[in-house]
Amino acid sequence: MRPRKCRYCRGPMPPPASTGRPALYCSLTCRRDNEYAVARRRWEERERRERPKREAEWKAQRLHRPLERWRAEAAITLLRGS
Ligand SMILES: [Zn+2]
Repeated sequence: MRPRKCRYCRGPMPPPASTGRPALYCSLTCRRDNEYAVARRRWEERERRERPKREAEWKAQRLHRPLERWRAEAAITLLRGS
């Protein structure tokens, strides 16, 4: 049985090709968009899982940052001689 509607845009399907697997999407664009949406959803799920760890790392890094910036500014001041 062949799906009668595009899985992605729910639009009407074009006339079926005589060869190959049954099409799920009305066009290459819809197939690509769907693949992109799936990949994006997976990426977002992974992001959500790993976020607490990353935020902890980010906070740990940020603790060192003001000192580094102060050093950089001090070095520039020394170079300028003012
Ligand atoms: Zn479509």
